[in-house]
Amino acid sequence: MRYISTRGGMDPVRFREAVIIGQAPDGGLLMPEFLPDVSSDLEGWRGLAFEDLAFEVVRLFADDIDDVVLKKILKDAFETFASEDTIPLVQLDGLNVLELFHGPTLAFKDVALQVLGGLFEHILGRQSGSLNILGATSGDTGSAAIAAVRGRPNIDIFVLFPDGRTSLMQELQMTTVLDDNVHCLGIEGTFDDCQELMKSIFNDLAFKEKYRLGAVNSVNWARVVVQVVYYIYAALKFKEPVSFSVPTGNFGNVFAGYLARSMGVPIDRLVLATNKNDILARFFETGTYALGTVQHTLSPSMDIQVASNFERFLYLYFNGDSERLVEFLETFYERGSAKVDHVDSVEPLFLATSVGEEETVETIKSTYASHGYVLDPHSAVGVAAASRFKLTSPLISLATAHPAKFPDAVNEAIGKDVATHAKLKKLVSHATRKTVLAADELAVKNYLTENAR
Ligand SMILES: *Cc1c(COP(=O)(O)O)cnc(C)c1O
Repeated sequence: MRYISTRGGMDPVRFREAVIIGQAPDGGLLMPEFLPDVSSDLEGWRGLAFEDLAFEVVRLFADDIDDVVLKKILKDAFETFASEDTIPLVQLDGLNVLELFHGPTLAFKDVALQVLGGLFEHILGRQSGSLNILGATSGDTGSAAIAAVRGRPNIDIFVLFPDGRTSLMQELQMTTVLDDNVHCLGIEGTFDDCQELMKSIFNDLAFKEKYRLGAVNSVNWARVVVQVVYYIYAALKFKEPVSFSVPTGNFGNVFAGYLARSMGVPIDRLVLATNKNDILARFFETGTYALGTVQHTLSPSMDIQVASNFERFLYLYFNGDSERLVEFLETFYERGSAKVDHVDSVEPLFLATSVGEEETVETIKSTYASHGYVLDPHSAVGVAAASRFKLTSPLISLATAHPAKFPDAVNEAIGKDVATHAKLKKLVSHATRKTVLAADELAVKNYLTENAR
């Protein structure tokens, strides 16, 4: 399998290189040259454990990695999960929840990042190379990426986070990791500042090459592929086509569902659930992709306006026509808004909607009252969104975080302390390490120059 850039300006590369470069040098995202059709494999895959299904799916995309090695990487990755089923499907009366949050940092990002960590180590080991990972986080990505690469040889990780603006638990999940290869950089600024710093450093191609900077954000193709697996896994638990409700920010998670459907998995509809930051919901309703201002919500990991993986969807929507894609993006970046021609045919698969704060809280409360089940605010956005549509197929809601990651919102909604987790409680008494830096490119570059491998 070979990978090309959505913007058309890169010679094809194979999986191993795609994982290391993360993003194409022309600024585009990597896509496989074609999508395999798995419809005739599905019956044979029914009943496979998650780890074994992951092997069957990922090897289709990673055909330059030895089967035995790939199996081991997947086994090691999913062994870090606290549930025997890795990602259990909880079936309550009238509510199916796919719990993706049993990994080391209690958010769904662990599923793909644990695998990515193993892939990095294997690929670098073969090249006897090294990698300095640079990431920006508003909370969940940073800790999941750190958990994925801590202690691994040949890799250092530098995470920029807005100092004092993440939740205490989110900060402690990063700063209590004391391995030498982990660098937590508290930036005196906002999450947008962190992301800008990261982008401008990546855009300095000479610097990027000199320090071999790698990316772990959701544009990395390996993350998307691993996420495809759980859509197949959950769909195979049913005899008829199913629908999913997916809480979305960067369009990463829901894009994996779209790919699964494109590969022949029987998916009826995908509910694309956003919080008040509704740029994606507006696009699927009107065909116009128009920038708004970021609003802070109870589901902070979805407080995003420009969804980085959306470029992949547009590429497929334009039938792989990079020129039309680039034109759309240029218009969007110049004017803050761009439009596709045929709104009706944008993609009927998606049912997109935006859920407000009050309804999120109400959903946490009512789900607890009727099912005794505790949702985190992100997962609640998904459950609330799905309730707006009359679906004829069984619905599976993706639960993207453990409620204990967002205890204030959850406990307040329910009225008692139900959102706790022993692992998080312990962090409070743990030693920590971080470096605070000004929101200044030179300051971050100096830190990298002194500490990078
Ligand atoms: C990152 C995150 C999301 C959004 O996922 P995308 O891939 O950006 O759509 C939703 N919920 C939680 C808890 C997250 O950490």
